[in-house]
Amino acid sequence: MLKLSGEALANDKGFGIDPEVVNRLCQEIKRVTSTGVEVAVVVGGGNIWRGLKGSAGGMDRASADYMGMLATVINSVALQDGLEKHGVDTRVQTAIEMRQVAEPYIRRRAIRHLEKGRVVIFAAGTGNPYFTTDTTAALRSAEIEADVMLMAKKHTNGVYDADPKLNPNATMFTRLTYNDVLQKELAVMDNTAITLCMNNNIPIVVFNIDVPGNIEKACFGETLGTLIERR
Ligand code: UDP
Repeated sequence: MLKLSGEALANDKGFGIDPEVVNRLCQEIKRVTSTGVEVAVVVGGGNIWRGLKGSAGGMDRASADYMGMLATVINSVALQDGLEKHGVDTRVQTAIEMRQVAEPYIRRRAIRHLEKGRVVIFAAGTGNPYFTTDTTAALRSAEIEADVMLMAKKHTNGVYDADPKLNPNATMFTRLTYNDVLQKELAVMDNTAITLCMNNNIPIVVFNIDVPGNIEKACFGETLGTLIERR
């Protein structure tokens, strides 16, 4: 399971969808699928819209979150387009039905697609407001029994003990337990997501997506970024 933040598709300013960036990501995903690894993707929507930002501006939180979920569909379709340009069979499954755009999320069908070598992109988050796409990735990982959840981050190599942008002495963890993340309140992902991974024993690798080749390295277990697991 590859979790891409919406920002991973964006230009330098972190907004919108940059076709060149999408193209590079798709090339990397293609390299992984061509080795026979089954790849599912959850992509966020933060490059277009975040529910919390909308509600901070006075919007109803649920409405703002639905807008965020729709943003993830836009990103998912962009990614599908990029992958198919590289000849990679891809299906988008949405948690909110929009059959003209994508298949509805059906777990068993998703697993069949993966078995057939298709990349499955899970769009529209969990379909529920008040959740994030990190939680979506954890949930879908559990549902499809993913071996690992790869958290691709921009501008950072892994999980640090302090914000490296603000503190030059911040050090990166190479290994953490789920409990470390919860107890130290490390800003990796929200607690719902980390708890789901903990309860279902899904290892997480947090790594830098800006470095070409990292998706492949993370997939094949090269030491990279921060590994979060039980022990
Ligand atoms: N969202 C939601 N429910 C979900 C997943 C996402 O309401 O199950 C909304 C939420 O408003 C969130 C937005 O979609 O802010 C975009 O997702 P996220 O912030 O996780 O994207 P990322 O930070 O990964 O780009």
